[in-house]
Amino acid sequence: MSMNTMGRPTAPASVSAAAIETVSGSRGLLQHEDLLFEIGTPETTGVDLPKPKGLKSRLGGVARKVDTGLPGLSEPQAVRHYMRLSQRNYAIDLGLFPLGSCTMKHNPRLNEKMARLPGFGDIHPLQPQATVQGALQLIDELATWLKVLTNMPSVAMSPKAGAHGELCGMLAIRQALIARGEGETRKRVLVPESAHGTNPATAVQCGFIVDEIKADRRGRVDMADLKAKLEKSDDVAGIMLTNPNTCGLFETDIREIADLIHQAGGYFYCDGANFNAIVGRVRPGDLGVDAMHINLHKTFSTPHGGGGPGSGPTVFSEALAPYVPVPYVNKDEDGIYRLVEHVDGDASESFGRMVAFHGQMGMFVRALSYILSHGADGLKQAAEDAVLNANYIQARLKHVMSPAFDGYCMHEALFSDAFTADGIETIDIAKALIDEGYHPMTMYFPLVVHGAMLIEPTETESKAELDRFCDALESIARRAAQGDDTLKGAPYLAPAKRLDETRAARKPVLKWAPEDTSKVAAE
Ligand SMILES: *Cc1c(COP(=O)(O)O)cnc(C)c1O
Repeated sequence: MSMNTMGRPTAPASVSAAAIETVSGSRGLLQHEDLLFEIGTPETTGVDLPKPKGLKSRLGGVARKVDTGLPGLSEPQAVRHYMRLSQRNYAIDLGLFPLGSCTMKHNPRLNEKMARLPGFGDIHPLQPQATVQGALQLIDELATWLKVLTNMPSVAMSPKAGAHGELCGMLAIRQALIARGEGETRKRVLVPESAHGTNPATAVQCGFIVDEIKADRRGRVDMADLKAKLEKSDDVAGIMLTNPNTCGLFETDIREIADLIHQAGGYFYCDGANFNAIVGRVRPGDLGVDAMHINLHKTFSTPHGGGGPGSGPTVFSEALAPYVPVPYVNKDEDGIYRLVEHVDGDASESFGRMVAFHGQMGMFVRALSYILSHGADGLKQAAEDAVLNANYIQARLKHVMSPAFDGYCMHEALFSDAFTADGIETIDIAKALIDEGYHPMTMYFPLVVHGAMLIEPTETESKAELDRFCDALESIARRAAQGDDTLKGAPYLAPAKRLDETRAARKPVLKWAPEDTSKVAAE
């Protein structure tokens, strides 16, 4: 019998547990659940009020003639349906979320309480500005924190996610080039191979051409390749560089990279999604950055798992500050906050407007609440603990797994699949983690590492929790190294097993249709 590192039986036990079939379809206390359309029928109704008498339709000839076909359910049926579904979800409030390049950290409940204060939660973006001075002050104070933490003189608060912040930064760069009369000639944007997919996508969306830079053996920008790309430099608009990068490493040559780009006449866009790892230790403004988005939902709590909302304020250097989008908040000499909303006056060089209103107000409240409750020293410690936790995982697993690069990492530990026996792949390890009660790590990203496994624990996990996770992963890794074929069938205990994710993405079935019973009967 094979044992895991805790001395418990592994494969045979999990296979036999998986083989247990139940009459109800439920497993343990996890209830089996069908689709709403299968549970309810259009003929059933959740309420038993009598049809009102003498009620005349006021719809004239436009009343629907066919039924909506929506299923009717009683209240407890509906409540249980969603409760049962929610139990199948993995959540940051349930356990460690090892996804790399995502920063899934705990969201202090205090933030939620603050975001729901009626003065923030119940206001409308079209209210007269005199009635929302407190909200505008909050946006202004958060903006000040972001400028101080990054040492950048200007910030656009309105972008609604990281990718949207990238768009904001690259549109400002495009506007600056147009102002210089080089809008048509400087079209090339340099992007490292390891970049998050949103970087090249943003550049292309802004009309630029992407030119890939190689990674060196240390997982950083290959300086020789960069210099070669800059030789013919009069068409370079800029570089989009992530720091710490998506291999979880600090770009040690970043100052030289900034100088080279500036000498070539380009701008330096920094993808700041990984700012959590360096807050309070490094100020991007000191590194020569011209524009950088900050994912409030990765650095200042409010994890974005489950679809949002995000928020991507973008900070700017003096060179790009004139081009930032409207609206932004200004404080008058008399202490009144006003929104600058039009491209004229002080904002006459602005590239325009990206969103209808001012950005994600609820996220601003959460982020400022997080910042104020941590204080400058607490923010710095969060960054340091995030890096410490990732290095702990790397140190605990490096003897059984294969670290992608030598040396310490920043906020995430990256492994390749070099340690696995023939036939066992990254996906098998990820799926086996589900049986152990963990959401899988990020896999096959970044692309520069074969069979990549990217693990970001964040600062919010305790040593005990990290150990539990490492015990599970270590045991799976040993089985992978030994070529344990039962891994190919994992997960055994999850309600959904190996899904055809490509087909689900390419050919999504978005509409439920009843099974054609006549056909079944005919057969
Ligand atoms: C998350 C992430 C993004 C995109 O941010 P969203 O808020 O998801 O749009 C961009 N770059 C990197 C490196 C990221 O990790």
